[in-house]
Amino acid sequence: MAEPTFRYHPDPLATGSAVPTEHVCSVCGVRQQIRYQGPVYGRQPDSLCLHCIHSGAASLALSVSGGGDGDSDMAAMFSDAVDVPDDVPLSVVEEITRRTPGFAGWQQETWLYHCGDGAAFLGPAGYRELEAHPEALTMLREDRRRHGWAPADIEQFLRGLDRTGEPTAYLFRCLHCNTSLASWDIS
Ligand SMILES: [Zn+2]
Ligand SMILES: [Zn+2]
Repeated sequence: MAEPTFRYHPDPLATGSAVPTEHVCSVCGVRQQIRYQGPVYGRQPDSLCLHCIHSGAASLALSVSGGGDGDSDMAAMFSDAVDVPDDVPLSVVEEITRRTPGFAGWQQETWLYHCGDGAAFLGPAGYRELEAHPEALTMLREDRRRHGWAPADIEQFLRGLDRTGEPTAYLFRCLHCNTSLASWDIS
């Protein structure tokens, strides 16, 4: 069976959110070749395939019921929804948080949005990776400036970003205008 494709997470193997490992998925019970490695904000499955994320079966099976209140059906499952711009449809937020593989960071990670849509997650990044994406570096620089950081401190911070150590940046690309975007975190 061909692996599903995700609009907002085009290559979960490249980002480290999935690994090629034969396993029996806890949700569908089928022997699968790709195993999800990212976070689950619900009941923890022993093993989860990408098909079950894509179909929504994983969200339904792993949701922690809020005792019948309707909101629990929209609860984030694989990534968090924080600071979602007003022009992003709820259906997009639902697809990203409940039917798209998430990614592990130092904290509970949230998606980035641009041009009224979710952006595509390209993976964790350090300064070296970000150098190829000057718009993403500018975004991080301006965010730190708004927090009142001095220019020298900002440059030192940017150069300290590390793909595997911390702090880590998370690189996205807008699906409409192609701008590179980045967030970052630290434990
Ligand atoms: Zn499955
Ligand atoms: Zn855009």
